[in-house]
Amino acid sequence: MRILIVEDEPRLAKLLCRAMEEARHSADCVHDGRAGLERARTGEYDLLILDWLLPGLDGLSLCRTLREEPGSAGAVPILMLTARDAVSDRVAGLDAGADDYLTKPFSLEELGARVRALERRIVRPLRQAEEAHEMEAGGLRFDPELRTVRRPGSGEEVRLTVREAAVLECFLRHPGQVLSRGQILRQAWDDPQVVGEQTVDSVVYLLRRKLEPLEPGFSIRSVRGLGYRLDPGGRE
Ligand code: CA
Repeated sequence: MRILIVEDEPRLAKLLCRAMEEARHSADCVHDGRAGLERARTGEYDLLILDWLLPGLDGLSLCRTLREEPGSAGAVPILMLTARDAVSDRVAGLDAGADDYLTKPFSLEELGARVRALERRIVRPLRQAEEAHEMEAGGLRFDPELRTVRRPGSGEEVRLTVREAAVLECFLRHPGQVLSRGQILRQAWDDPQVVGEQTVDSVVYLLRRKLEPLEPGFSIRSVRGLGYRLDPGGRE
């Protein structure tokens, strides 16, 4: 993959760059937010590794701004690096459009695992592109390749992050079933041992907020003590 690293700490930046190159990726590194945004806007990258606290433009604003861009620049998977680990910070990061986050300090093994997981999420849909078709979610249509959900006939459409799409897919593959947080983690994350079950709650929260306004009957219900169940809405 072609990876852009936006990290202002020179030693860490160098370390990340070397680790990515050892994993046979090509990596470019910039040290402030504005330069990062400029580079990312070229749409030439397969993945962004983005620090939260940056001079010029912080990672959260960069992420949000980039998500407004059309085409491949706006859709690029983003792994956010952060020293913050409160649930609200995590939600803020995912909400700004990050696909995953890693809390500092982290090991290079952990970073490698997250990058591989995101790669699988990107490469797999591309390989399946020929046979890719929309999945039905009650009154909504989900395109796993483009990661978009639309309401037929209305022109309304939202784009999901890699993680949101993986969680939605998980529900759609098990219609009517209650899924535990553990089951969702195992199916939607390739390395479930490094993320907590609260992450599932955060992603479900974001999915609800994006999809419920599109289709009034759509909801992801909490089933107390068990997990979640998708009620797709739409016509019976
Ligand atoms: Ca920093």
